[in-house]
Amino acid sequence: MSAQLTIHVAGEWRKAVSGATREILDPADATPFAVVAEGGAEDTDAAIAAARKAFDEGEWPRTPVAERAALLRRVAALLERDREELGRLEARDAGKTVEEGRVDVDCVADAFRYFADLVVNENGRVVDAGSPDIHSVVVHEPVGVCGLITPWNYPLLQASWKIAPALAAGNTFVVKPSEITPLSTVALIRLLSEAGLPDGVANLVTGPGDPVGARLAEHPDVDLVSFTGGLASGTKVMRAAADSVKKVALELGGKNPNVVFADACTDDESFDTAVDQALNAAFIHSGQVCSAGSRLIVEESLRERFVAELARRAELIRLGRGSDDGVECGPLVSSQQLAKTEEYVASALAEGAVLRAGGKRPDGPGYFYRPTVLDRCDRTMRVVREEVFGPVLTVETFRTEDEAVALANDTEYGLAGGVWSGDAGRARRIAARLRHGTVWINDFHPYLPQAEWGGFGKSGIGRELGPAGLAEYRETKHIYQNLAPRPVRWFAG
Ligand code: NAD
Repeated sequence: MSAQLTIHVAGEWRKAVSGATREILDPADATPFAVVAEGGAEDTDAAIAAARKAFDEGEWPRTPVAERAALLRRVAALLERDREELGRLEARDAGKTVEEGRVDVDCVADAFRYFADLVVNENGRVVDAGSPDIHSVVVHEPVGVCGLITPWNYPLLQASWKIAPALAAGNTFVVKPSEITPLSTVALIRLLSEAGLPDGVANLVTGPGDPVGARLAEHPDVDLVSFTGGLASGTKVMRAAADSVKKVALELGGKNPNVVFADACTDDESFDTAVDQALNAAFIHSGQVCSAGSRLIVEESLRERFVAELARRAELIRLGRGSDDGVECGPLVSSQQLAKTEEYVASALAEGAVLRAGGKRPDGPGYFYRPTVLDRCDRTMRVVREEVFGPVLTVETFRTEDEAVALANDTEYGLAGGVWSGDAGRARRIAARLRHGTVWINDFHPYLPQAEWGGFGKSGIGRELGPAGLAEYRETKHIYQNLAPRPVRWFAG
């Protein structure tokens, strides 16, 4: 495949109709290393038409569930075959370490297998209609043509959390990866073809949010749009989808609290664990994680010791190109993301936050920013309220459980949060009160393909993964069969 043939329509790899291209930059040194087609509205319309035809006339929606599941398992095996290559590609494109790239591929293979297993076991039910003359069943059918729009931080993973259930359920789709990081999605579509997916089922348009994503959201032939990305784009997608009343699933941002009680740190080992995990919560992938634990909410009596150790360790984090030995954190993904991070730190310092670590770019090329700890923060500061999506951790304190819960819930988002306590009852009490889609107790970040992922509040609508993650891509139909029909005689004449 030539570098620019990255648009996939009805089984064919194409350039953009306009001939436009885009250079893909390596964020570790800001130099281009790939070229992709810069699709536009015409390319998107062609991809939607192909997906529509494949849904209305093709075999995939009518393929037996067991065969669809078998294809998903073949995709998982192909992902494992290409693990190293895909992991390296993802690391370079998104600016993460190669090990993170490999783990992403493993998680993606797990998701394909999970949905393969789930779909064969979740196939509707017989309903007791209260009469032996009535046979009543509830069955699942695919929704139709899905528009799938994904962000740049976990490009392959986010695409797969949509593509695997969409295919399992029998849909056809058009996927639009982030214009900054499209390469692993291009690779995944090639694997789907290699696994035997019929032409036209999986279509891909590389290109910008507007017009490609916007067209998917508004187009009357798209039945469902599933979007992962920022709040501002997500609200546009929802508005654009309204006229055609398509189904909308949104996975948006987060401003995720990590609540640490003093009783989580009763000895050196438990203290080290809580600090280590707070570091990981905030700074893995340079904080460019929707569920990043970017708000440390620590009990006042523990604050000084905890923040001092956290800041010391943050200063030791080794930044660099993700493929270099010993590197723990890559760069930010783009110059825009770097500028945004710098601006948030400057505004926090102007509003009275105290810098304990980082707060600057290291010397040299690339979009790097030092992991930053901002102490003495409060809810009036923008850096505490808004998603930075960079390596910036703010510190707030509490004295009582009620204060901790109030702070943790004081966000328009509600994606994820952590609570650290040595008292299991207290931890469960707090978890029950947190208004977030995922709550970790004495941990941060793990997810399971079999458990739903998604947000309360402005973190989104709907869920990915788990049974609900498959349900997003299914219509539910009730078939009521009368085995002994008789006249109703409502109308006398
Ligand atoms: P973004 O909103 O800028 O872009 C996301 C995608 O939407 C891209 O493909 C982009 O091209 C497209 N897009 C932009 N404008 C559009 C429009 N008007 N119509 C349709 N599509 C449009 O987000 P990003 O900067 O790529 O990603 C970071 C954001 O994603 C963060 O807010 C992060 O929290 C969020 N995120 C959420 C989850 C989750 O599971 N909830 C996971 C990963 C990332």
